[in-house]
Amino acid sequence: MSENPQLLPAVSAFLSSPKQLLIDGEWVEAKDGQTFATVNPATEETLVQVAQASAVDADRAVTAARNAFEAGPWSRMSPRDRSHLLWRIGDMIEERAEEFAQLESLDNGKSLASARGDVGVAAELFRYFAGWATKMEGTTIPMSVPGKEFHAYTRREAIGVVAGIVPWNFPLTMAAFKIVPSITAGNTIVLKPAEQTPLTALRLGELLLEAGVPAGVVNVLPGFGDAGAALVDHHGVDKVAFTGSTEVGKKIAAGASRNLKKVSLELGGKAPNIIFADADLDAAIAGAALAGYFNEGQCCVNGSRLYVQREVFDQVIEGVAAAAKAIRVGDAFDPATTMGPLVSQEQHEKVMGYVRGAVADGATIAAGSPDPAADRGYFFAPTLITDVTEQMAVQTDEIFGPVITAIPFDSEDEVVAAANNTVYGLAAGVWSRDLGTAHRVGGKLRAGTVWLNTWHADDVTLPRGGFKQSGWGRELGSFGLDDYTELKTVIAELR
Ligand code: NAD
Repeated sequence: MSENPQLLPAVSAFLSSPKQLLIDGEWVEAKDGQTFATVNPATEETLVQVAQASAVDADRAVTAARNAFEAGPWSRMSPRDRSHLLWRIGDMIEERAEEFAQLESLDNGKSLASARGDVGVAAELFRYFAGWATKMEGTTIPMSVPGKEFHAYTRREAIGVVAGIVPWNFPLTMAAFKIVPSITAGNTIVLKPAEQTPLTALRLGELLLEAGVPAGVVNVLPGFGDAGAALVDHHGVDKVAFTGSTEVGKKIAAGASRNLKKVSLELGGKAPNIIFADADLDAAIAGAALAGYFNEGQCCVNGSRLYVQREVFDQVIEGVAAAAKAIRVGDAFDPATTMGPLVSQEQHEKVMGYVRGAVADGATIAAGSPDPAADRGYFFAPTLITDVTEQMAVQTDEIFGPVITAIPFDSEDEVVAAANNTVYGLAAGVWSRDLGTAHRVGGKLRAGTVWLNTWHADDVTLPRGGFKQSGWGRELGSFGLDDYTELKTVIAELR
């Protein structure tokens, strides 16, 4: 790897040695000695070799997690002690925020500013769930049995061993989304980060050990889909918590159903973003660009399908095209950069293929085209496409890149039908100054999150998840914690 003078000594030190698997509190090689390279998408250079977990390693990690769960140093720790430890981990992440941000930018390509935001979310997640550790309450429920008296109540209990499988678009926050609610509820976990971006999950594993999380409670297994599939198949796993594509989500649901594991799925999206003519157009244009281009467009809730009322269509297209052209695409470590490269060559080829396909089908590029200046790195200019039909692949498929398609509409009924005409249902948005229109249309959109006159506004307090093929269950907020617990009913006869 070429020297980057801006790298913190801690980051250089982390990258100077091969990265291993975290199993039972120890850093170990893969049983078969396999490794894989993780690559900086801005330079296409290898950052470091990483141990590649196989099914054998998945078994070792699940056994460690099972033993830790049964032994109880974590699952039976007092809620207050667990809460304090979770809060302290939030502080420790914040103290090392720049280190995490640099690692994330190197491994994923996202700008440092964006990575800093992600690290803040991860720290806040530990603090938010620290509060819940002492509030996993049950209820007392009246029972009526003639001639007898009962006391009945419910308890929230840990499920056991969780397998967390996550994608590459927000590596640290996705790892935290699985680890934090799991361990807050007293579960133990085996986390499999995405093969493209294993580094911040490994650094988080180090930090959890340093903070005093007992051995085996959090295990980190870098590797590919086969390692994930081995976790899904493993009898020692009680719940699979997956974030990733709808295609792989279906395989996970099928695999987990073989022995009826609990499953939560956060899957793909193709969010419609609807701008009515009476909207604050400056805000709507800026919001549409943010909706489509945030995180290099590699975001499940991105507003990739833009619908604009016909009388303001040209004005909005001109505005979003100008916003796209103003985005500075470049290396994450350049402070002027607002958009980094796509995560991998595979992703670059996929996004390019969709844009080329749309042009071949007769669509028009209003902004963008792959950056011709980039002689290395997976950079892709933010792209806006018009003259699109509902049948084109660019309009139906999740592209997961900085590509917005735009279609004009005339009536509310027409746009609601078009917006809902998708297998996905993760997010949607409406821009209108008329509160009645905004709330009415928002109510008709079949999506787990609906933004009105904003986009990407979010908090760890809010549940998120998908309608339709965008997922099962809800993540974050108190709803998210419920998904990591079993509900027990206790019935006592008062003799
Ligand atoms: P992906 O489905 O290809 O991979 C996700 C993870 O699953 C990776 O760790 C991968 O190694 C693993 N995996 C692959 N095959 C597997 C198998 N057969 N069994 C078990 N694990 C397997 O997704 P990706 O390309 O890494 O990420 C992009 C996708 O993630 C997009 O579809 C995006 O919408 C989705 N996503 C959804 C959310 C959400 O909250 N709904 C958030 C972020 C990303």
